Amino acid sequence: MNILLASSEVFPFSKTGGLADMVGALARALADAGHETRVVTPLYRGIREKFPDLRKVDWYFHLPLGSQYVQAELWELDVAHGLKIYFIDQPGYFDRAGIYQENNFSYADNAERYIFFSKCLVHLAHYLEWRPDVVHVHDWQAALVPALILQEKNAGWGSAPPTCLTIHNLAYQGVFVDSAFALTNLPENYFNPDGAEFFGLLNCLKAGVAFADFITTVSPRYAREIATPEYGCGLDGILRRRQKDLTGILNGVDYQEWNTTKNPNLFKAYSAGRMAGKKHNKLELQKLVGLPADEFTPLFGTISRLAEQKGVDIQLGALAEMLNTNMQFVLLGSGSPEYERGYRDLARHFPGKVAVRFGYDETLAHRIEAGCDFFLMPSRFEPCGLNQMYSLRYGTIPIVRTTGGLDDSVIDWTQNPKLATGIKFSEYTPRALAKAIRKSLVLYRQPKLLNACRHNAMKADFSWRRAVHEYLDIYKRLQTSNP
Ligand code: ADP
Repeated sequence: MNILLASSEVFPFSKTGGLADMVGALARALADAGHETRVVTPLYRGIREKFPDLRKVDWYFHLPLGSQYVQAELWELDVAHGLKIYFIDQPGYFDRAGIYQENNFSYADNAERYIFFSKCLVHLAHYLEWRPDVVHVHDWQAALVPALILQEKNAGWGSAPPTCLTIHNLAYQGVFVDSAFALTNLPENYFNPDGAEFFGLLNCLKAGVAFADFITTVSPRYAREIATPEYGCGLDGILRRRQKDLTGILNGVDYQEWNTTKNPNLFKAYSAGRMAGKKHNKLELQKLVGLPADEFTPLFGTISRLAEQKGVDIQLGALAEMLNTNMQFVLLGSGSPEYERGYRDLARHFPGKVAVRFGYDETLAHRIEAGCDFFLMPSRFEPCGLNQMYSLRYGTIPIVRTTGGLDDSVIDWTQNPKLATGIKFSEYTPRALAKAIRKSLVLYRQPKLLNACRHNAMKADFSWRRAVHEYLDIYKRLQTSNP
């Protein structure tokens, strides 16, 4: 098949979170499975310098955006056999210090930037010599594409491809003032409560939910959760209406990137059969972040955006209680200054027990995954979550809340003592998390059980091989039902 993906971030070219990892890995897995895959993404600052093999394509965009016309150029990079990335080069929109924001303030023209990006994608899908059999868009930044394609189809694009939208996080919907709708140049009848309108505002993700031929999200449990008022972020009604075209597919992990045997980020290689290296990674990590190097003190870690979603409030509460016991905690995170302050205070209260690092650091992320004994992920909600799956592969026992992909990817003792890979708790309170941490400390003192759990965790397989076939089934169904 010819598959065209669109995403506002793609690893390794740009990344703020799991979206980039997922799209980068899905694209590679589709190409590996023998499908001609192309990805469209913005040319952000620094990409051309970091990837000097980018080639300029003889292609110019000159597209209406409301009452003006905007121009852009196109670059491409052949990444692997069957995999090409297209970069939309519009310096006014994308040559900036941040991707979506600077200094915690979203860019004021994000509607304009990503509506233009979506239009470029539709233009490519329509006019490239290479014809996509399916267009698969990701998150709100590309979610207007199905409506734009539908409109061109109604205007006579006979071979318009079917569309699939993946929701990576329903909390980010791309909501803008109603006047932003004019930038789409779509007829007014797309702007109503069954379409792109959300209480008088433009809602890009809602437009995707309304007009995509199929909708997926990144775990089965999250697909069920978002159709409820509690997790639906205001879109549960329309998601329930589309339930027969909505499914959840757990993200895979890119094990070429996230592995313990051939990984230049780690201090020492290790595997389920050769665990000595994990101890070495722990001692080196403790030294690196300034904690006492002690193999017998259980070390907990978290790598996260510091946002409400991630359960920072209950984590701070639970740690304040539990750090009086013999344990250490290391955090790598970035985000809300208020949460950063919370962790800084925690470090001040527990010197020698807590280490915090703020910022984005890929190498340190690998080292924390490898060096810790336990990984804390107490999210309020979690569409899929990748870090708990990285933890599993690194033999670092995840402690997770039973929500979304966390519930789908971790097995607790109460579910299956023989296959247990982690510890789960369900109530969203510091007490419930503290209790889960207490359980992990008990586990830590029972080496036989701990080793069995580590072994199960490291053997769990969340590779893209499985997920990619689920996406291909959807693409094929869409292709056959496309009139
Ligand atoms: P989300 O997409 O909601 O942020 P995920 O768990 O799905 O959460 O994916 C987060 C990704 O971003 C993981 O690859 C994680 O390792 C990475 N990450 C998050 N914060 C940092 C950070 N401060 N430094 C390095 N990597 C980070």
